[in-house]
Amino acid sequence: MQSPHLTGLSQAELSDFVASLGEPAYRGRQIFAGIQARRLRSFADMTDLPNELREKLGENATISTLTLESRYISSDGTRRYLFKTHDDYPVETVFIPEERRDTICFSSQSGCPLQCTFCLTAQLGLLRNLTSGEIVEQIIVALNDAYGVGTRTPRGTNLVGMGAGEPFLNFDELIKATRIMKEPSGLHIVPNRITVSTAGIVPRIRELATIPDRPHLAISLAAPNDELRNELMPINKKWPIEQLMAACRDFEKSLKRGERFTFEYVMLDGVNDSDEHARQLANLLHRYRLHAKVNLIPHNPAEPLPYQPSPRDRVEAFQQILESKGVHAFIRRPRGQDILAACGQLAARTTPRSSEAVL
Ligand code: SF4
Repeated sequence: MQSPHLTGLSQAELSDFVASLGEPAYRGRQIFAGIQARRLRSFADMTDLPNELREKLGENATISTLTLESRYISSDGTRRYLFKTHDDYPVETVFIPEERRDTICFSSQSGCPLQCTFCLTAQLGLLRNLTSGEIVEQIIVALNDAYGVGTRTPRGTNLVGMGAGEPFLNFDELIKATRIMKEPSGLHIVPNRITVSTAGIVPRIRELATIPDRPHLAISLAAPNDELRNELMPINKKWPIEQLMAACRDFEKSLKRGERFTFEYVMLDGVNDSDEHARQLANLLHRYRLHAKVNLIPHNPAEPLPYQPSPRDRVEAFQQILESKGVHAFIRRPRGQDILAACGQLAARTTPRSSEAVL
């Protein structure tokens, strides 16, 4: 049996765990702070614990279950990490430096069971769900790499659950990870700095609407009608646009001050980017009285995907039609394309460029 992965335990669970080793509860708080606030990667580094306890922990538990295999650095500064789980499945994480606030894009699954035709991850299929510890560990490694072990994050980092996998098919572990990360005595990344994107798992959108302390929600839409969406995102056959939009409307009603809700629309040249598609999209949002903004994301090409990104002037024309109909739309700048770190490109591939040895 695998030893407990302490990175995936809440402070209370850690106190219970140390109690099972015959240790007082305050040791649980110390270990939690060591893992989550100081981001230490081994018990040996927890020099505030007695030697004997560090040895006992080493025999009975683990902090780290992900092995970093490679790190790729893009010409735009984006970093992609390729890990292996203890049972040899790939996990990918992307660090995106930005002027105001850096962003870490994490994965919720190894591979993905959904078959979005514009996404390279789909080609892996589902390998397995990640645990809350594996989700939190991705963030810790990326933060340590960017800022150094134990340092405060300089500007407060944003997280996005838009890496490999459909987060809402691993809902419980995802929510558990967000609760661990929000602890003030730990990473202290509150849900309001996290955005999670779903392809449209309607029951979980409805469930998220009932959770008080939740991440922001983004819906990957990609098409304004069922016919095209069935083709691009086959999950639409299970939860068609009508059901998805009804859930979105109810979710939007549940929004509290400061919460964000957005649609993501990947722009595929000649496929979903016509003036008519823009009008249909605006009408769809109006029909369901949705006020959410739309992020337009030029597709990131990757062999053997059959699509090309919409040209810049097409994306701008699409944006203008949405804006003229009262829908706020933004064009997202692709990052890390050259190292296969951009949206839809995560498929555990090794790339020759800018590869660096394991940290
Ligand atoms: S776009 Fe997201 S949900 Fe769709 S296949 Fe890729 S990882 Fe899965």
